[in-house]
Amino acid sequence: MKNIKEFNLDDLKQELEALGEKKYRAEQIFKWIYVDKVKEFDEMTNLSLELRTKLKQNYTMCNFNILKKQESTDGTKKYLFDVLDGNAIETVLMQYHHGKTICVSSQIGCKMGCKFCASTGIKFIRSLTAGEIVEQILAVEQDIGDKISNVVFMGIGEPFDNYENVMKAIKIINNQKGLNIGARHISISTSGLVPMIYKFADEELQCTLSISLHATNDEKRSKMMPVNNKYNIKELMEACKYYIQKTNKRISFEYALAKDNNDNLEDAKELVKLLKGMLCHVNLIPINKIENGNYSKSSNENIIKFRDYLNDNGIVATIRRELGSDIDAACGQLRRKNLKSNK
Ligand code: SF4
Repeated sequence: MKNIKEFNLDDLKQELEALGEKKYRAEQIFKWIYVDKVKEFDEMTNLSLELRTKLKQNYTMCNFNILKKQESTDGTKKYLFDVLDGNAIETVLMQYHHGKTICVSSQIGCKMGCKFCASTGIKFIRSLTAGEIVEQILAVEQDIGDKISNVVFMGIGEPFDNYENVMKAIKIINNQKGLNIGARHISISTSGLVPMIYKFADEELQCTLSISLHATNDEKRSKMMPVNNKYNIKELMEACKYYIQKTNKRISFEYALAKDNNDNLEDAKELVKLLKGMLCHVNLIPINKIENGNYSKSSNENIIKFRDYLNDNGIVATIRRELGSDIDAACGQLRRKNLKSNK
């Protein structure tokens, strides 16, 4: 059976027509799902019994079950969802002064193998469907009884390795008659799949693009991120420049500082050279120590020096607030622990 959350409003209209129903029914269903947040077709009380029966015969609501939920003292919540096929995914809710931000997963596992990531070692199983991406937001909104204001694709998976489904999910998330989260409040983070950066630039969406950079030369970056062997820094920078020229939007470069690896002044100097003149912002991330990981957290002193050097040399840089560090903040950790305890 098809998941009803796979459809954007236009596609749902076509589905309803194919069932011999009027198109406006699609808007009613969309409202029940994304505004009223019902979990069952039978709760859609302005639909006839006959239509509700047809819906039940043809579609599922794909409601995720919460397998585990952890809450940090700073309000961050980590969810482990059962995606109804025996697999589990992780979603994180963060509270910022400007609203609630959800970090969604785009795949079950990840192929990219970044060395600092807790998902490394969790084998890639499959990409999530658009409906499964959207369901993460709905399930969290249902759980907290409140609205999410920002979505970041920074959970498990490489969103650009699941490009079509992520674009489809964005359309549903963005629809004013649905979840109604503006494109400017949606951010996609890629490890650097160059061809997809060009493709994304051509979509001319208002979403924010983040690039996981983490190192300033190919030798160091390839050690941290195997994707760099395929698309090196030069190719990555050319794609970023194309994106900026095409969209006139600022790129956010993510830079996870790891002690004695990429956190000294030489690295900061190279970073300035690399990004000089680009419409961008650098987001410095104090790396979280992961089990069996080779990287450990940079000292606060180094992090501040690094940021100040960038700012003093014309590159806007901020340090990301560490949220949820008491509940395994690095992506993949909650899932990995749970899998271990289930063994
Ligand atoms: S950091 Fe992101 S892209 Fe890299 S392995 Fe982890 S989930 Fe995949």
